[in-house]
Amino acid sequence: MNMVIEAVNGIKIPQLGFGVYKIKKGEQFERAIREAIRAGYRHFDTAKIYGNEEALGLEIQKSGIPREQFFITSKVWTTDLGYKATKIAFEQTCKKLNVVYLDMYLIHFAGPHYVEAWKAMEELYSEGKIKVIGVANFEINHLEFLMKQSSISPMINQIETHPEFPQNDLHDYLIQHRISHEAWGPLGQGNKALLERPELVEIAHHHKKSTAQVILRWHLQRGIIVIPKSSNPKRIKENSEIFDFELTVEETEKINQLNTGKRYSVKPTGYMVNP
Ligand code: NAD
Repeated sequence: MNMVIEAVNGIKIPQLGFGVYKIKKGEQFERAIREAIRAGYRHFDTAKIYGNEEALGLEIQKSGIPREQFFITSKVWTTDLGYKATKIAFEQTCKKLNVVYLDMYLIHFAGPHYVEAWKAMEELYSEGKIKVIGVANFEINHLEFLMKQSSISPMINQIETHPEFPQNDLHDYLIQHRISHEAWGPLGQGNKALLERPELVEIAHHHKKSTAQVILRWHLQRGIIVIPKSSNPKRIKENSEIFDFELTVEETEKINQLNTGKRYSVKPTGYMVNP
């Protein structure tokens, strides 16, 4: 079972997806994707820079499940930003994934020439080659700058989000502008200190769930799309079992209090602090 978030253009995005960053290549990768598909995940998040688009495409094909039943996201890397370069990068990504369209394509970081890259994405969207176009790691100033110069606004922003770093201001801004919020690092990248917080342990105990499941549920109830990553079959299944319980308002409030402002992301070379 899954829940969906409707993008501003009506496209339905499965609210739980599976992130494939840093899953070891080879047998471990193949097994992780197989297990994820078996557990019911159909939404997969990759990127050119992860170097596993080809392997993901192969596993999807091997599953025998029609491509239309999957929701596949990839991202254009900073060195491919630009009108022509982004079009080429998109074609290469589709080729590697062995698909003719992408469900979602994101600008990975606000690097130089992201406005020109966006023009290319707008065209690919209009041609039906991408169902949802968006960005990742954009701050409010980047979004404002981009929206002023584009005819189609970003439909989604994929940003680091977890209880210690809930992105409250950016979250409110996204809601206000009808931009879907997707969390990367939804489990704080598996940080033990977070997963073992006594407040989370208590809530998890009450629902007979794990703290990871409680955190993912907290995201769902905020209306956020999550793409947890794991290569452990038990955890892959565990992370999918988050639709059969609900956090109370008090529990949600307790989790909201875990905000420490601590983020894990490091801005890559070329990241534009100002638009
Ligand atoms: P995450 O929060 O999903 O944490 C993953 C780690 O949490 C795993 O490696 C594992 O150690 C642990 N974990 C997973 N399930 C668990 C469970 N049930 N119990 C205990 N521990 C568990 O962090 P992430 O992998 O960085 O983010 C998820 C996905 O987001 C990535 O795979 C990638 O697709 C995407 N991402 C995007 C960006 C971006 O810049 N757009 C950056 C990082 C990640």
